[in-house]
Amino acid sequence: MDLKLPEDLANLSELDEKSLLEVLTGRFTQNLIYTYIGDILVAINPFKYLSIYEKEVSERYKCHEKKSLPPHIFAVADRAYQSMLGRLATGPKNQCIVISGESGAGKTESTKLLLRHIMELCKANSQLEQQILQVNPLLEAFGNAQTVMNDNSSRFGKYIQLRFQNSSVKGAKINEYLLEKSRVVHQDEGEQNFHIFYFMLAGISTEDKEIYGLLDPTRYRFGQEHMVQAWRVKYAEVCNAMDMVGFEEQEKVDMMTILAGILSLGNITFETTDSDALKVSEASRGWLKATAGQFGVQEEDLLKSLTCTTSVTRGEAIQRLHNQQQAEDARDSIAKVAYGRVFGWIVSKINELLAPKVDCDVELNEIGILDIFGFENFAVNRFEQLCINLANEQLQYFFNHVSPSYMENSFTHARFAPLFQDLFLTKPIGILSLLDEQSAFPQATDRDFVDKLNSKFKTAPNFEVVRNHTPLFTIVHYAGKVQYNASGFLEKNRDTIPANIRELFINSVTPLLSVLFAATISRTGTLMPRKAKVLLNVCVLFSVQHSLAVLMEKMFAAGPHFVRCIKPNRSKQPDQLDSKLVMDQLRYNGLMETIRIRRDGFSWRPAFKEFAERLVCRRENRDFLSSLHQIPLCLILDSVCCCVDYRARICRRRFLSLLAEIRRQRQAQRER
Ligand code: ADP
Ligand code: MG
Repeated sequence: MDLKLPEDLANLSELDEKSLLEVLTGRFTQNLIYTYIGDILVAINPFKYLSIYEKEVSERYKCHEKKSLPPHIFAVADRAYQSMLGRLATGPKNQCIVISGESGAGKTESTKLLLRHIMELCKANSQLEQQILQVNPLLEAFGNAQTVMNDNSSRFGKYIQLRFQNSSVKGAKINEYLLEKSRVVHQDEGEQNFHIFYFMLAGISTEDKEIYGLLDPTRYRFGQEHMVQAWRVKYAEVCNAMDMVGFEEQEKVDMMTILAGILSLGNITFETTDSDALKVSEASRGWLKATAGQFGVQEEDLLKSLTCTTSVTRGEAIQRLHNQQQAEDARDSIAKVAYGRVFGWIVSKINELLAPKVDCDVELNEIGILDIFGFENFAVNRFEQLCINLANEQLQYFFNHVSPSYMENSFTHARFAPLFQDLFLTKPIGILSLLDEQSAFPQATDRDFVDKLNSKFKTAPNFEVVRNHTPLFTIVHYAGKVQYNASGFLEKNRDTIPANIRELFINSVTPLLSVLFAATISRTGTLMPRKAKVLLNVCVLFSVQHSLAVLMEKMFAAGPHFVRCIKPNRSKQPDQLDSKLVMDQLRYNGLMETIRIRRDGFSWRPAFKEFAERLVCRRENRDFLSSLHQIPLCLILDSVCCCVDYRARICRRRFLSLLAEIRRQRQAQRER
């Protein structure tokens, strides 16, 4: 090993930004893309094939000692697996691997490598293993797309949980987050629609084309691209994956027919008539007919749902005619909802097929892998960015709380009131509840929402008022300032399907469509039962927050592992490393901070719960701890961290005296 290029940066005696970059760059030029910082793995995307994932390599990373082999993604998989089996420390059995990084940094490839290696480790039975490994190509076909940042960019976040009974895998479950549905109807310059549309158009047989009512690829507005031979192969792979996972023939046909319907729908255009009414343009009469056929609904009903809204007031149905813009919006929202529901259905079908087949009293352990969008800050940031950044804010909070280095530091910096707690979740009026509240009023506008934010948060440290005609506001996130444009926030947060459209699809003769639209996603929890009556559909940000909270709860109870992916350059080229770009990512990731603290000697952390349990087990400690009940747990845990010395021993005396000090201070405060 080259001493100048250490494998673990926590071992460097002197480390500033410059030398850190030198080490990473030096390693990268020798194709050493993996480096440890203590127990965090840094992975720089090589953008080229490296022969480090071969069978012999994965054989070596089985049950190995961490420091005996070079840093590797397989080592992370091995550690998680061994920890789950209780072969390493006696921490929690369940494990979670958090993969972070910006778009194109290599998160999804890392996820696949982790999955693959874990399958090797547990010598999975061949059928289940194949099913699990086929989940990724399937999800990627429907949830990934070519973007400017990444040719195979995931447009959704996922948490894959592998379920084990002792050492053998018994099943899997996927949670998906925030599918970017708007991509179905609109793609920016240089970007594409979801892969599946291209795969399908290129790969479908002439017979199937007829069954689904598809035409030549060039005829569709949603995704005009040249046919590529590779897509043909991909389509065969997707069909194969569906068979392997266990989709039925009829389900496949229904699904593809709905996709074909979405394509036809996208081609419908409107024009005004002399009588001011709206009609489908002459050229798209055929598309209307095709769509109706593919969706299994009556042509007149479809037309009606596109050209007018029916609302019921005091028991009376009132019809309002759409103008051209409204009709186009209705068309696009049908496409988005239909696609979103198909995607959700695929995930739930996978979960059904891969559910562990064991007796319910069998104890299962889990390894979860989180692959979710990184922090985003574009020229214009919309509702989607707010959701993504909220998720990242929460992940950072998780990292801060379980990462050894941060915890040690947090005692002095008191980082237990993070931004998202303050700004987003404060009850009764955080950003989240303000948005929900406004979304419940049909007359409220995006401007009203921003005005409410401004008056509530104008003095909050992480919020900045923007004086502008457009409804703008700024949030200072952990990774930087982001200005949001609130236009469309309320609408996107409501995400309601108009009643007449829902009705239309529930009555579809295509069983799958009818099932998809009959399902109402109800509000989880009993947080706002009153408003639940007003809003039939779930508010998006609320449900994002809810699913994140569930995820966080799981993650906090698991043994954490971190993989930080880094993108070496913006042009997706091998052997090129843009120092500034890399440095920015190291800062965003909180890695600079981590290194600084590690260097000071804290390169290992005892599992908290383990420590706490051991501490509580001893009688004299128990009495002492019970006298501390007025001290918040986070303060106690933070004090623990302060007392971890570099040999990873906890100095019990120091810990107890720290707590005694806190208690004295509190007592004194109360007496005053
Ligand atoms: P992210 O999920 O972070 O957006 P991906 O995992 O999709 O990024 O990676 C983007 C691209 O980078 C991949 O399509 C692949 O070409 C390349 N890539 C990522 N990781 C590796 C790797 N370990 N080896 C080779 N190429 C990689
Ligand atoms: Mg990805």
